[in-house]
Amino acid sequence: MSGSKLRAAVLIVSDTASRDAASDKAGPALTAVFTAEERSNTWEAPVVKVVPDNVLDIQRAICQWADGEEYFNLIITSGGTGFAIKDNTPEAVSPLIHRHAPGLVHGMLAASLNITPFAMMSRPVAGVRNKSLIVTLPGSPKGAKENLESIINLIPHACIQAAGANSRAIHAGGVKKLEAEAGVSPVQPSNANHHHHHHHHHSHAHNHAHGHAIPKPHTSPEDRPRSNDPNAGPTRRHRSSPYPMLSVDEALKIIVEETPNPSIIEVPVTTDLVGSVIAEDVYAGEAVPAYRASIVDGYAVIAPESPSSGASTKGIFPVASVSHAQASSMPPPLEPGTIARITTGAPLPPNANAVVMVEDTVLVSTTPDGTEEATVEILTGDIKPGENVREPGSDVALGSKILQKGDLISAVGGEIGLLASTGTKTVKIFNKPRVGVLSTGDELVPHDDPRTLTGGQIRDSNRPSLISCLRSWGFETVDLGIARDTPASELEQALRGALRGISTAAGAGGNIGGVDVIITTGGVSMGELDLLKPTIERSLGGTIHFGRVSMKPGKPTTFATVPFKPSSDDSAQQEREKRLIFALPGNPASALVTLHLFVLPSLHKLMGLGSSRSHSAANAHARANNLGLPLVSAVLTHAIPLDPKRTEYHRAIVTASRSDGRLSATSTGLSGDPGASSGQRSSRVGSLAKANALLVLPPGEGKIEKGQLVEALLMAPVVSGE
Ligand code: AMP
Ligand code: MG
Repeated sequence: MSGSKLRAAVLIVSDTASRDAASDKAGPALTAVFTAEERSNTWEAPVVKVVPDNVLDIQRAICQWADGEEYFNLIITSGGTGFAIKDNTPEAVSPLIHRHAPGLVHGMLAASLNITPFAMMSRPVAGVRNKSLIVTLPGSPKGAKENLESIINLIPHACIQAAGANSRAIHAGGVKKLEAEAGVSPVQPSNANHHHHHHHHHSHAHNHAHGHAIPKPHTSPEDRPRSNDPNAGPTRRHRSSPYPMLSVDEALKIIVEETPNPSIIEVPVTTDLVGSVIAEDVYAGEAVPAYRASIVDGYAVIAPESPSSGASTKGIFPVASVSHAQASSMPPPLEPGTIARITTGAPLPPNANAVVMVEDTVLVSTTPDGTEEATVEILTGDIKPGENVREPGSDVALGSKILQKGDLISAVGGEIGLLASTGTKTVKIFNKPRVGVLSTGDELVPHDDPRTLTGGQIRDSNRPSLISCLRSWGFETVDLGIARDTPASELEQALRGALRGISTAAGAGGNIGGVDVIITTGGVSMGELDLLKPTIERSLGGTIHFGRVSMKPGKPTTFATVPFKPSSDDSAQQEREKRLIFALPGNPASALVTLHLFVLPSLHKLMGLGSSRSHSAANAHARANNLGLPLVSAVLTHAIPLDPKRTEYHRAIVTASRSDGRLSATSTGLSGDPGASSGQRSSRVGSLAKANALLVLPPGEGKIEKGQLVEALLMAPVVSGE
């Protein structure tokens, strides 16, 4: 509380104003009441906030203002007190009130009834929560202002009393003046006298306030938003999501933080290693090459150490021996004045120190039977010791580090090659996660069902498309089938079964082995059959880390963790592990986009990518840890309209120019295109066909022009263009 002034907060409750704050007239009208000259000594200018007609939004704002150290003395709401179905401000406020103040309600109603009988059509409530006085006013700026003016001069006193133990501070700060103002100021209509009278008994009221403990709230404002209780039925469901809308970056940060560190296994070196990440530095157990080897086909020679010695490799020499690369034993030592024929990769005879290329020689004479070389002339005298020779360990030194923790064994082959060439028998790698994929929805029919669709049926395209994608990323997948929305227990069983490794869902079945990550699609919108969140929270005891993301497509993307006890027979020793659930939107394009954007970074962390020491473990940002899709920039080949509010992940084809080295991006379909009418609509999975990139288009007005540089997340290799 600053100085001796009272603090007021004004909550405008209006769907319209929450969409367009500029349309709000009540906020300014009410602010003016507090800042009027005669009150500006008593009140600080109020804080104004706008929320939609939504119980949870209203409650969250009020709790924020009433529950902390920095509480407001007066909290006023305006709007939502009528009889329309969406009017629910009194219902939101009532449960928050610890002590009701019907007198204020009567006073306001009486004052407005003097002006219009329609005052009866308002349903105000008033009372005290902790140390804050809360009053609900009507939504019309005029009505709200009149109501407030009818009580404003009385309120300071009530506020001081409500402040309870803290009132001394207020008193010290000039309460006499405040009280005098409240008591003597000309009071607006009718019933003012009663209040006026009452207010002279402030010493009594003061004691009263001290004599009673302030009731303790039973709910905490930090309580997580909770999903619907599906048993409450469609009339009691939330009409807007109680989950805060996160940015994609915030969502990614949470995902990376909540994704556990990978476990480590030791496995033999085989070609199956491709796609795994090394968990412990690997050192060469053998040198490569293990012996002095020739780099060329030619003749091993003894090259003079210094040119001044007068000796030269030039001349005609007897061929003393032959060393082949496939030789199982070393060739005999080379005598001075002789040379030895040698093939690429073969060991040099002892004493030899260089190899002359066959191109620099001519055959002089053969053995009597004509099958072998007897003497060969070396045409050059420039051969230096060490020329055309690989020293032992010059490719890989014995004991040197060949791979390090965090290195991916790529399909390019270099890493497997290193392991194989050094005779490495086993390596420690991070265990890759197993991923289960479940479709949800009563309307779904397996894609290969031979029957003709009827009614509202649609083919389940998400399961095959997501599973293909996950497999191409190298993850073992488990097809969890389809879970119907009704009965609701089917979803719970499917999820439990996936964790335990026993599938019950239609289309799967039997013992499938437990999964580390479950991906579901559908059931996260706002319909009453959207059961993912309530099932995770209420039935599985899981935690929803987020349930809404500001992006297009993919807004309802939900991420949760559930506790899981790996095996029931293994006593209490068993530690509880956690399993991840990505509940992706049902719309096919949304499901694939969010799979790439959110699931991949988590799977990357689970498989150990980004675990190398050069990366800071404390940095949870996916991009900083190289998790997820690679990000590049590309030039737009045409304009694209922007979404005013949400970041769009626009499906596109990125091509690399063969002439100027530039990347350019072309949409797979704009909504306005003739012939591509549905464009980027989230149901249109075709927007991903041929796409190799998601353009990251920040929210904004108008469009982003042709020729502009945009960020592109690459889902597949860039294709070559002109
Ligand atoms: P929901 O979030 O369950 O309401 O799903 C949103 C939309 O996606 C609805 O039109 C669903 O029919 C559709 N949908 C859900 N699951 C799938 C799926 N597996 N394959 C194709 N479309 C789906
Ligand atoms: Mg559904």
